[in-house]
Amino acid sequence: MPHTASPFTSALNLMEDYDPNSMSVAKAKLFIQQYLSPLSECDQVGLKEALGRVLAQAVLSPAQVPNYDNSAMDGYAFNSLDLAATGRTQLTLIGTALAGKAFEQTVQKGQCVRIMTGAMLPSGTDSVMVQEKVSLEGNSVSFPNPPTNKMNVRYAGEDLQLGQTVLPAGHLIQAADLGLLASLGIAEIRVYRKLKVAFFSTGDELAGLGQSLKIGQVYDSNRYTLYGMLSRLGVDIVDLGAIADDPMLLEKTLLAAAEQADVVITSGGVSVGEADHMKPLLSKHGQVVFWKIAMKPGRPLAYGKIGHAHYFGLPGNPVAVMVTFYQFVREALLMLMGQAHVPALPTFNVVCTTAIKKQTGRTEFQRGILYTDAHGTWQVKPTGQQGSAILSSMSKANCFIVLDEQIGNLDAGVTVTVQVLHGLV
Ligand code: AMP
Ligand code: MG
Repeated sequence: MPHTASPFTSALNLMEDYDPNSMSVAKAKLFIQQYLSPLSECDQVGLKEALGRVLAQAVLSPAQVPNYDNSAMDGYAFNSLDLAATGRTQLTLIGTALAGKAFEQTVQKGQCVRIMTGAMLPSGTDSVMVQEKVSLEGNSVSFPNPPTNKMNVRYAGEDLQLGQTVLPAGHLIQAADLGLLASLGIAEIRVYRKLKVAFFSTGDELAGLGQSLKIGQVYDSNRYTLYGMLSRLGVDIVDLGAIADDPMLLEKTLLAAAEQADVVITSGGVSVGEADHMKPLLSKHGQVVFWKIAMKPGRPLAYGKIGHAHYFGLPGNPVAVMVTFYQFVREALLMLMGQAHVPALPTFNVVCTTAIKKQTGRTEFQRGILYTDAHGTWQVKPTGQQGSAILSSMSKANCFIVLDEQIGNLDAGVTVTVQVLHGLV
């Protein structure tokens, strides 16, 4: 039986076919989502500092963008009423408009102005003829009839109107957003404060970098993987080290972690081995559910609350840590960071060029390499050995090949679903 306590008990009972010994990935995600609400504290930050943070307040446009009608091309600004009904249009050149240096006079009938991209459209004009189409003799300009009137002009407000919502609350700020906000002259915005995530590894067998490995020891790699994945999400990180399988030490570390962080992540010790001490500890101090997720890798997983902190107990196996982080933790952290709609990792269907062995009844996240063949068509192949301790498979991979519970062995050439990892965490 899983350890459950109110309010988890009632929430679990509401879930149809709840089976802690075979919990589907989708159901576990849904369960976790019920407990995620964004941070309430905010920071006012300078624009550059806002990259990767989540907007706590919608940004409304303080101006129209562009602010004035301007040319989209290098060419000649003229009035479309001057276009000749047939044959070439003939105009007199009276000056030049540069970006940042407007042509001040009003352009009269039959006149035109040389204009550069981004320059304000002189009054009296509404169109720009690209310079490549124009013949110039002295100050006489001529060009063939254009296909449409009013071309090559970027009109005031065509990108954003005054007062329009530029970015909604809950939006994760990306590079384009920094530029967009800068284009509006916005130097500071209100974002949710940074999420604080504490983590530690558990295991008597773990050695730290710089120590020489004794027989039976492995280097603690999970803390480095977690550091990398968490850093990419832009959270504040508290690394509490590798803790031996000693209930007292684990208890002390767990409580210290929950005290200072919004989220606590541990790796190892959540299955049912003799040295897996996390379960009794968590029933003593928190409300935590333990699942055997119907997935590979990543079968044992725990989620719950210890005081105010969210707790994720990830498996110990290095690949399982990454798979469960991508499938459960990443999305949860983004929701806690305030992101209103966390998009699922992008997936698409592609032909797998290698046969795959797979048992039905669990979702497998095989590590895959997306590549282009000689014709430039995207295909995928598994990275090779798929053991949950083979971290090089994760290092080689640029996607997961996601094989649903009902899928069994696959022949080469079958279409599979892949989840792209590029640029994520
Ligand atoms: P556990 O879930 O604690 O039973 O660990 C499962 C497997 O993962 C064992 O082979 C552990 O040695 C290994 N493992 C656990 N924690 C780590 C870690 N931090 N770094 C590398 N391997 C680990
Ligand atoms: Mg262990």
